[in-house]
This record gives sequence, C-alpha cells and structure tokens, in this order.
Amino acid sequence: MSRWAYVNGRFVRHGDAAVHIEDRGYQLADGVYEVWAVFGGRLADAEGHFERLERSLGELKIAMPMSRRALQLVLGEAVRRNRLKDGLLYLQVTRGVARRDHAFPDPAPHPAMVVTAKPMDWAAAGVRAARGVSVITTPENRWGRCDIKTIGLLPNAMAKTAARDQGAAEAWFVDADGLVTEGASSNAWIVDAEGVLRTRDTSANILRGVTRKTVMGLLGETNIRLDERAFTPEEARNAREAFITGAGALILPVVAIDGAPIGTGKPGPVAQRLRALYIENAQALNIS
Ligand code: PLP
Repeated sequence: MSRWAYVNGRFVRHGDAAVHIEDRGYQLADGVYEVWAVFGGRLADAEGHFERLERSLGELKIAMPMSRRALQLVLGEAVRRNRLKDGLLYLQVTRGVARRDHAFPDPAPHPAMVVTAKPMDWAAAGVRAARGVSVITTPENRWGRCDIKTIGLLPNAMAKTAARDQGAAEAWFVDADGLVTEGASSNAWIVDAEGVLRTRDTSANILRGVTRKTVMGLLGETNIRLDERAFTPEEARNAREAFITGAGALILPVVAIDGAPIGTGKPGPVAQRLRALYIENAQALNIS
C-alpha cells in the first residue's frame, strides 16, 4: 500500500514528497515538530500536542500554518489516506521559504507544513517493553531552550547513536550539576530507593513531555507517590526501577544504566502499571 504525505496544502505519494531547498527548516533547522501516537485510528493526547505545537511556534514567532481545526482535519485525512490504525503521526512546521539569511525574514513567509504517518505494532512494542531497555548517560550539550520542540536535533541524534553503539535504546543527558535532565527523545523517570516516583521538574531545561503530563494525571488512579525532583545517575543505579516516557516509547521500562542493572534488572511494577493504564486510556478513546 502506498504511503501518503501532506506537503504544503496537498497529499502526495510519500516517495514523491519534496520541499524547497531554501526552506529554512532545511537550511537552518528553523522549525518545530510534534508526534502523536495513534491507537485504532485516534490520536492519543491530541490536545496536549496541539497546545505544545502552538507554544513552540509562538516562542519562535512562527505563525500557525492554519487553524487548529484545519490542522485536525489534515491529520485526520493523513490517518485515513494511510489507513493508519496503530502508529505515529509526524507533523513539522518550518518558518517557510526565504533567501538564506540568519535573521528571521521580514515580511515573514508562509510557514511550511509536512505531515507523515508511520504504522506501528503496539503489540510488538509491548514485547520490547516486557523485556525492558538499557540507557547510557552522556554530558548535556544542547542549547538552553529545550522547552521548544525544535527540529534542531543534532545533539540528540549524536547521543542516540552513542546509545545504539553501546547496545542501549536511549541516552540520558546529565547536566553540569550532575543531574539527569531527560532522554534524547523521552523524559526520564525513576522509582527511587524510598519508593518515590521522581522525574525532572519543568523549570529545568527539558521538553515538557505530553506523555509525562498524562502519566502524572494517571497517578490519581494509583497510590504512587510523585516528587518532581532531579536525580543523579547514581540514584538511578540504586533505584528500584526506571522508565522513559514519550509519544513513541509510551511508558518504556529501563532495566540498566551504563551497563549496571537497575533494581532486579527486570521491568518494575510501577512502569508496567503505568504503561497498562496509559494504553487502556488511549484505547478507551476509540469506544467513547
Ligand atoms: N524529551 C525529548 C527531548 C523528546 O524528544 C521527547 C519526544 O520526542 C520527549 C521528551 C517526550 O515528549 P512527549 O511525551 O511529548 O512525546
């Protein structure tokens, strides 16, 4: 079945999709993106990702390429054309096409927008989650505005590559204070030695993860205690369990850090419970 991509007002075959070479996203990484998990054809955490998209664009003074309602229609059409049941939807908005110059062009060009869809087998992802994954740590070397979901991802790509080269699935950045900020494409969590769920607070230089926020909302259905407080790699090594969250990972147990096992070296009960709750809630969207 052919894949369809949305590019600046049209759906085109994925293989034929192209943007202008003077697009500022291509030239200067001048753009932002969002990713939605799709369950049964419905977008998980739809509103949270729209809100963050609007915020990222606002911080960079890029206009929304269309109204939120129109955007929802385009994403729905991308799901329909690709017959996407389970998978990921990717949306990218860049400042648009302009003669190359660092300063934002004035007048502003019309923002460019691309949407692609990718099928995912959530059951197969579940098998991986049941095994758990490893992470490595790496010095934080990103810019100071990681709250903006920009397409400038070179440090993240380098960190992910280092992780892959060491047989790990994710890299956790560690800042100058020796504290974990977040993963290269996920937020980082532990259940510490006292049994308290910990993750970095959003006043730090991290992305305000939409899955992170949803997971916090799910805690009301449990008796898990949360403290939004930074942790060190050593605290992670001595933790009862660890996991990462993100639209692609959902809630993914972490069983080793820098080669050392965490807890029992197997996925922990908190991560497993939260993953099950998250998926249950996302699937319930399809019945409501
Ligand atoms: N942190 C970073 C650096 C990310 O790239 C991502 C997702 O891509 C996340 C955290 C998790 O965010 P979300 O749960 O909104 O997908």
